[in-house]
Amino acid sequence: MDSKTPLLIKQSILIINVTDSDIMTALLIGCLAPPPTMGFKKVLIANRGEIALRIMRTLRDMGIEAAIIYGKEDRLSLPVQLADDATFRDVINPLDAYLDIEAVVQAAKDMGCDAVHPGYGFLAENAGFVKRLEEEGITFIGPSADVITLLGDKIEARAAMEAAGLPTAKGSSEPISEASVASALADEIGYPVIIKAAAGGGGIGMQIVEKESEFESALKLCQSRAKSAFGDDRVFVEKYIQGAQHVEFQVLADGTNAIHFGERFCSIQRRHQKLVEEGPWLTPEKRHEIGSLVCKGAESVGYKGLATFEFLRDANGDFYFLEVNPRVQVEHTVTELITGHNLVELGVRVAQGEALPLKQEDITWRGHSIQCRLNAEDPAEFIPSPGRLWECHFPSGFGVRVDTHAHPGYEMPGCFDSLLAKLLVWGRDREDAIRRMRTALDETVITGVEHLIPLHRRIMDEEDFMNGDITIQYIDMHQELLG
Ligand code: ADP
Repeated sequence: MDSKTPLLIKQSILIINVTDSDIMTALLIGCLAPPPTMGFKKVLIANRGEIALRIMRTLRDMGIEAAIIYGKEDRLSLPVQLADDATFRDVINPLDAYLDIEAVVQAAKDMGCDAVHPGYGFLAENAGFVKRLEEEGITFIGPSADVITLLGDKIEARAAMEAAGLPTAKGSSEPISEASVASALADEIGYPVIIKAAAGGGGIGMQIVEKESEFESALKLCQSRAKSAFGDDRVFVEKYIQGAQHVEFQVLADGTNAIHFGERFCSIQRRHQKLVEEGPWLTPEKRHEIGSLVCKGAESVGYKGLATFEFLRDANGDFYFLEVNPRVQVEHTVTELITGHNLVELGVRVAQGEALPLKQEDITWRGHSIQCRLNAEDPAEFIPSPGRLWECHFPSGFGVRVDTHAHPGYEMPGCFDSLLAKLLVWGRDREDAIRRMRTALDETVITGVEHLIPLHRRIMDEEDFMNGDITIQYIDMHQELLG
């Protein structure tokens, strides 16, 4: 340490021009504040596409070197070109470039990284990966392996959050494997019910059951989908919330305390996956009520990092906890626009060992934000549309943000997620934001692949959307938009 460094001691007295021996004395008598936590020097981004670029930008803002791993499909991609260091993974299955735990850990070690940012998807919710990093003394930017294991099991997560006081839908507290047990439970809680995978994600395998005779086949289908997608065929039954809206809360915690950044409304979905996200959505009173509960939930499990608490809200305005996503989410950007806080930076800071740098009172909400996911998919059937982007122009201007790794000439691979860009707008209020989104969509040019701009453009003009009359059945109820 520079012997003339100003030092802050516990009683907030600033000692100027202290020497090393002063520091030693101060340490010995124990009056120094805990040493400032070491900032990361180099972080491996174990991801690709827009989120890799998003994380990289913030690491650079923070003066942290960014390393990346990549397979051949991504060798020319922006995050790989911009990274300070990169490891090529020569694999046959493109997903293996990002999913092979030992190879990712080895790359982090070889490149001298002190932490790994998983982004979303891939290894972001893999407790085995987190354990391996812990063994190697490399920090995982996210919660501990134990917390990931707990929250990754929807049955356990439901129980933990119920114990913390969060409202949950009626359902089974244990896995169900017999149709007779499931139908007895459905008689008790009332039809319709939904069968879901305990290890579920991405809406995979969910089955809605309207009557007893459907149980046998629905249960088998959900179990086999769960087995092939997650290697775990445990499923459970929950009351199907009709006419529900999807509302989720953004949380940041440091392992002890948690704060929330309010809600996002994400009911416009296809196959249980979000297409349009926006916020804010609730009254300040409701935000405070549910926000306080999710903070308690996060604190009860010793959560550290960014998390999203997902809920369904029924027509009466009652909330039902669905799950916790223990990572940065695709739609975190909506919250950034209305709160003005860089969530990725905050996640990195708590991972570095800092206590929460903000208090709940510091979080305020201003205006309204909407995000449209510009997937490379056809806007009728949502079938992925890989290929080369011949033209690619994104909008900008006041109140517009685009998070994308796409550029003219970019080869959109077919083997990964079809998210090409996230188009966001901010407005004084919802009407202002909708108007700005129409202009931004009109200004966007993408040729070479099919994409969802025509669908988003129609949604922005649709009456129920404009009135905020939206449930998770929105797309089903507005098939005319898929024309
Ligand atoms: P996943 O982790 O697979 O995404 P979630 O539990 O988060 O699953 O649910 C995703 C979506 O599935 C919700 O936004 C909603 O559209 C639907 N869903 C899940 N559970 C229910 C339920 N109990 N009632 C009605 N819809 C549900």
